[in-house]
Amino acid sequence: MKIAVIGAGITGVCTAHALATDGHEVVVYDRRSSVAEGASFATGGLCGPGYVEPGTHTISTGLGLSRHELGWLWQRRKQQPKGLERMVALKRLLSLATWSRERQRDLMQRHNITIEQQDGLMLLFRSAQDAALSQPRLDTLRAHGVSVQPVTAALARKLELAMNNDTPLHSAAYLPGDSAGNCRQFAVALKGMATTMGVRFELASDVAPLQRRAPTCLTVTTPTTPPTPALHDAVVICNGAAATPLLEPLGLKVPVAKVRGHAISAQVREPLNTPHSAVWDATHRVSITRIGHRLRVAGGAELGTGDAHAGCRGVQTLYRVLHDWFPGAAKIDQSVQIWHGEQATTLDGLPMLGPSHVPGVWLNIGHGSNGWALANGCAEVLADLVAGRTPPVDVAPFSPGRWS
Ligand SMILES: Cc1cc2nc3c(=O)[nH]c(=O)nc-3n(C[C@H](O)[C@H](O)[C@H](O)COP(=O)(O)OP(=O)(O)OC[C@H]3O[C@@H](n4cnc5c(N)ncnc54)[C@H](O)[C@@H]3O)c2cc1C
Repeated sequence: MKIAVIGAGITGVCTAHALATDGHEVVVYDRRSSVAEGASFATGGLCGPGYVEPGTHTISTGLGLSRHELGWLWQRRKQQPKGLERMVALKRLLSLATWSRERQRDLMQRHNITIEQQDGLMLLFRSAQDAALSQPRLDTLRAHGVSVQPVTAALARKLELAMNNDTPLHSAAYLPGDSAGNCRQFAVALKGMATTMGVRFELASDVAPLQRRAPTCLTVTTPTTPPTPALHDAVVICNGAAATPLLEPLGLKVPVAKVRGHAISAQVREPLNTPHSAVWDATHRVSITRIGHRLRVAGGAELGTGDAHAGCRGVQTLYRVLHDWFPGAAKIDQSVQIWHGEQATTLDGLPMLGPSHVPGVWLNIGHGSNGWALANGCAEVLADLVAGRTPPVDVAPFSPGRWS
């Protein structure tokens, strides 16, 4: 089949590669001039099953919520899994994330892809309350076969020798099998591989909202060409937070909101002062990872565009968390890259993966804060569904039609 993939973030690149592996003729469209320039640009990099969660617990809301965002928040309050339900949702996500990690490792080995990586994940609990709140999640991870080692504060400080002794720490958990990796670097490498397999990347190409009478005929505009029709047999929507306007004319309602997060990246000042493994501050929900010669601190979950200072406050939190745990690790007084990204977040925190009710239109969106960790698994599941094969994980919980 001739298949269009809309969006060349980590989801679109992995999806294009998986479809090309099945022998499809694939064209990827993205309005930006390079791959992974949207939400996939400067992620925290955490890509193991121990990181994934069905949605974020807390989304801070500022002023200026749109009607869509207010409606989404209201619906989310009702539909977000809570208590035991949340653990069930986590189990579903874990199956997908575990499969995703396997596929990522296999691809890296098969195609000789190397990226900046860091092994192991240390979860830090500042208080007894944080530790207790995380317990059901850690139990679910263990039940799923994820190695989770309880660590005392004293041992955590020995394992992470550079950690600031002045910051109170109640306890920690170490996940030796988890890891962090450079998402954008992976996307660029896989794009190269996909290109050699015949995938065409049409970058700087904006796709207009799909049309009801011919949903798989895209209207594509580039800086040098007027709107031009491009006919395909099928279309896979991988454009993350921008999916809503694209699908609206088809009557496809995607309950996805743009939740903003932030990242700062700075050159390592002294390697000995950086964390040994990737670190997650469970109180502030902030990750600290070593990405090659840089240290990256990422986190935040904000809805609403009316508060001009919200992004600033989010970035200040990142600096504070870095200073709390690893002061002096990065050159924060010199050329720090500050980045804001929009995560497409669904009501229940699970992705929308599979066929829509419009023939020929498939969805792979709504990965929230887990898009890098789920990318390869979702891509292969989608290729399985397109081919009529049964995927290795239960996809019913991710069905795009689950709200209809
Ligand atoms: C601060 C932060 C930290 C994060 N940390 C992690 C982490 O540690 N681990 C993890 O797993 N996930 C993390 N995430 C989440 C992850 O970044 C996202 O889930 C993931 O990048 C989504 O990828 P995507 O390809 O679906 O979307 P995107 O990367 O946003 O790609 C969508 C693409 O579609 C294109 N597009 C949109 N509309 C159109 C159109 N009409 N025509 C043409 N092109 C279009 C855009 O230009 C864009 O390139 C983080 C997110 C943020 C913001």
